[in-house]
Amino acid sequence: MTASVPVVALVIPVFNEAAVLPELFARLAALFDGGHGCAWRAVLVDDGSRDQSADLIRAQIARDPRFELVELSRNFGFQAALSAGLAHARGADAIVTMDADLQDPPEVIPALVAAWREGAEVVRATRRTRAETGLRRMGFDFFHVIFGQLSDYPVEPNSGTFGLLGRAAVDAFHQLPERNRFFPGLRAWIGFPTADVPYDRQERAAGKPQQTFRRLVRYALDG
Ligand code: UDP
Ligand code: MG
Repeated sequence: MTASVPVVALVIPVFNEAAVLPELFARLAALFDGGHGCAWRAVLVDDGSRDQSADLIRAQIARDPRFELVELSRNFGFQAALSAGLAHARGADAIVTMDADLQDPPEVIPALVAAWREGAEVVRATRRTRAETGLRRMGFDFFHVIFGQLSDYPVEPNSGTFGLLGRAAVDAFHQLPERNRFFPGLRAWIGFPTADVPYDRQERAAGKPQQTFRRLVRYALDG
């Protein structure tokens, strides 16, 4: 940490999330207003949304300069959007990675920051409960069994994107040459002191899941 007040940037991929963005903005602004000893930024990466998402983000930036927009030229998919946001937020002392749909509750973020302040360079938010059921759930479970067998650095099955990377971890992540990225796998691979912060995963605040089953299978293969 260089500055006396560390800069914490939230990187949030957004694809057709107009229905949830107003609530997301309100809950993030409440978090930021709380201070928690940090200077906050939210980097919203619009991944080629076909709804009003980009316009809503621009309107929020006009109201509140703590919000920023990275606008991709088309829909590249969640992992690519995340990488674009991480590159944009490179100057931050720590980066929180999270979904836009409020399944990753912003109220958990101070606990992620606290774990980082206590020395963890990688912080994983781990779900006490899982919202997914049925085929998706079976797919996730199957993936973790196979991945756990194949990899020397298995992914913690109850963790996803939600978490925090300190600047050293972000820099390490950027040095990786992988183009088709599977973020939780790379996060496990880069090493560094790691902490887990348990939380209760929420239902989507509104709208439908934007990840197609086909794309999830592709991520699993990339992993
Ligand atoms: N997302 C994205 N690009 C896509 C699909 C999804 O940036 O092509 C975003 C989406 O807006 C959300 C996050 O990725 O912020 C997770 O997507 P979703 O909630 O649909 O996935 P799930 O909860 O099923 O993993
Ligand atoms: Mg979701």
